[in-house]
Amino acid sequence: MSGVRPGTRHYTLVCSSCGTRYEDDGLLLDCSRRHEAAFLYTEYGRSGTRHGESAGLFRHAPMLPVARTFPGVPGPVVQPAERLGRRIGLDRLWVAFSGYWPERGANLPTCTFKDLEAYTVLGRLPAEPPVLVIPSAGNTAAAFAWAATRHQVPCLLVVPAPAMERMRFPAPLDPCVRLVVLDGTATYSDAIACADLLAQLPGHHAEGGSRNVGRRDGLGTVMLAAADSLGRLPDTYVQAVGSGTGAIGAHEAARRLRADGEALPRLLMCQNAPFAPLYEAWRCTGTAPADREHEPLARELTNRRPPFTVRGGVRDVLTESGGDVLCTDNDVALAAMALFEEIEGIDIEPGAGVALAALADAVRAGQVRRDELVLLNITGGGRARQARDLALVPAEPWLRVPWPGRDEGPRAVAEQVARQLTGFAAVAEAAR
Ligand SMILES: [Zn+2]
Repeated sequence: MSGVRPGTRHYTLVCSSCGTRYEDDGLLLDCSRRHEAAFLYTEYGRSGTRHGESAGLFRHAPMLPVARTFPGVPGPVVQPAERLGRRIGLDRLWVAFSGYWPERGANLPTCTFKDLEAYTVLGRLPAEPPVLVIPSAGNTAAAFAWAATRHQVPCLLVVPAPAMERMRFPAPLDPCVRLVVLDGTATYSDAIACADLLAQLPGHHAEGGSRNVGRRDGLGTVMLAAADSLGRLPDTYVQAVGSGTGAIGAHEAARRLRADGEALPRLLMCQNAPFAPLYEAWRCTGTAPADREHEPLARELTNRRPPFTVRGGVRDVLTESGGDVLCTDNDVALAAMALFEEIEGIDIEPGAGVALAALADAVRAGQVRRDELVLLNITGGGRARQARDLALVPAEPWLRVPWPGRDEGPRAVAEQVARQLTGFAAVAEAAR
């Protein structure tokens, strides 16, 4: 990594609870004062001398918490979607498309908006970074695995076995990217529990998920790109959410951009029944156990610990934006995926189908007016198209661990990883 001198960053971190300000070291996740759980957020200098690239993600570098940028990283593409809008009863629908759709200039390497957060988090790191530990249901791991491979940034990714279907890339992963696969019945929540322990290994560091300002501001570039295309902020912003990190990032970006007196976009967050913890929390129906006989279509939306009550988190941004959480089931989401492909000519991910279906429901219910300027965030798409266009190779796991169950699992996995790392160190030592 190129050298980064302390004090040269163009932004400050601010605690959303007590207002304490921090100079960023590229890794900080939390305020050190004792109070309620609270996000740090970034405050960018108005007279920043940093210039972004002419296009792509790092065009927005002056509003990204990065110490370095990477050349040629694509960004989201924002375009009007008149025909789709007419079909669901909207006059002014715009789509932000994060994925692979070459005719429209969309070229995100792993086909979801997680590429935006991965490159931003890596760009935020200090020189000589620790090994970032990242749990994922699939899309986040794919994005980090490929970005870290391209730029040789050490990462330890922890995923449940079904995530491996997403781990296909144009080339093998770099050895500095270590992929730990939990075989058997392990879930995304189990991967999170393992990563919490693994981050305590010497030389390792928790990436932090929604607490990482790089993630939120990277995902927030969708709002920055939309404001560029629209010449203003949208009235309403619609996105499928697991943790809600992307929607929080979009809200934070809108807050930075808005002109005096301009309203913040109303956030409509969409979840997939029967697994909709944010929907249940927002509707105050408690967290009813999910019906396990009916799996949600969009597995990436199944975060069991979304940052709902944390200061600056989901509840705060819903309240501040006058937003709401919507919920839709698998059949309607599948129909919406088919509708998008029929009209626009590109496949979209299940999560994006959930968002489109929920938006169409909200229009029918009169919750969204026909003349509202609506930005629909299609958070992933073009995966089938990419698989036809490019030769992709499946990634090789660094370690596969049979999942011994929730009680012993995290410790067993941490021990195996530690043993493997010791073995690696010994081999490296012997080779010297
Ligand atoms: Zn604080």
